[in-house]
Amino acid sequence: MVTIAVTAERDGEPRVAVSPETVKKLTAMGLLVKVQKGAGAASRFSDEQLAAQGAEIAPTAGEALGGADVFLKVGRPTADEVKALKPGAIVAAMLSPYDDRAGLEALAETGAVLMAMEFMPRISRAQSMDVLSSQANLAGYKAVIDAAAMFGQALPMMMTAAGTVPAAKTFIMGVGVAGLQAIATARRLGAIVSATDVRPATKEQVASLGAKFIAVEDEEFKQAQTAAGYAKPMSAEYQKKQAELVASHIKGQDIVITTALIPGRPAPRLISTVMVESMKPGSVIVDLAAERGGNCELTQPDKVVEHKGVSIAGPLNLAGEVPVNASSLYAKNLLAFLETMIDKKEKALKVNWDDELVKGTLVARDGRIVHPSLQRTGA
Ligand code: NAD
Repeated sequence: MVTIAVTAERDGEPRVAVSPETVKKLTAMGLLVKVQKGAGAASRFSDEQLAAQGAEIAPTAGEALGGADVFLKVGRPTADEVKALKPGAIVAAMLSPYDDRAGLEALAETGAVLMAMEFMPRISRAQSMDVLSSQANLAGYKAVIDAAAMFGQALPMMMTAAGTVPAAKTFIMGVGVAGLQAIATARRLGAIVSATDVRPATKEQVASLGAKFIAVEDEEFKQAQTAAGYAKPMSAEYQKKQAELVASHIKGQDIVITTALIPGRPAPRLISTVMVESMKPGSVIVDLAAERGGNCELTQPDKVVEHKGVSIAGPLNLAGEVPVNASSLYAKNLLAFLETMIDKKEKALKVNWDDELVKGTLVARDGRIVHPSLQRTGA
């Protein structure tokens, strides 16, 4: 019987790689799901709920892992965890493949098949497996909720007998998955919303959500989207024009949410200290790019800093702060991917190594790091 192991995450990670719904589906497929006791607690999935859907609750991580064929995890597991699996077992997780190379190599040396969910190709067939989207969407939502909580004023305009409360002006920088959800959330809360991006395709998306689009729309802007749908790094000349536009716009804003990223590069620097100082005291910036260096010059990862009355938050795991939804969606992403590797008739693992989803996510196999983006030049 194919056995799937799920263990508790490291401290500070409330998410879990399985949900009652996915346990039910995996069990119905004839697979055995072993979950470490308490692993779902921070996502409010009790052992009883998971067991009721067919999971076997293991008292320790070691007992969940021992001899398992597949290991599902949120963050990168330790080599010791992976060594407890069956030789050549499949590990699917958000492996942060570009971080801690030595740790990744140690993991590869276990001989496990390592699959990085972040590398899932962004094609229609894999939409249900896209962990970056499922988690970024929640992060965009939570960024606005956190900003509203930090902001000492209301977001919607309120006309009361005692006077009028003005609507908060909210500016979203970077309109990918997180930015679009941030716009929608801020609009629902009644804020006046504007947004910027360098990809022309976002202009219509911003307008359709009822926000105002602001950008330097020159010739370079028209070419700023790659074939894969991502932003390109912009020229120094464009950055200068963009900085002037942002400087004049940001000083009137109450809340700024930044989400701008370029794959494989540090986050573009969009808000300087001078721009922060031009904002009114009490304004709030939530920088979702904190993990990659931040879009704001003053951002510090995992901290809220205050500069001349402006609060700047650099959260690192906002999706994890909505753990019930984040875990449910992440577990569904994993289930959808795993289904492509299961022979339902035989109730056995059957990996098609030529499948672009497998090729796209495969980081290591047979003890070696194999992903093209992780090959060292000269190695
Ligand atoms: P991302 O996290 O890489 O970047 C966030 C946003 O920052 C992007 O919109 C980007 O254009 C913007 N940005 C980069 N540099 C900037 C700058 N200097 N100034 C302002 N904005 C800047 O993006 P994402 O959320 O992963 O989405 C990237 C693309 O992938 C989008 O087109 C999205 O629609 C697409 N996508 C496709 C699928 C799919 O087909 N399955 C799934 C999800 C997303």
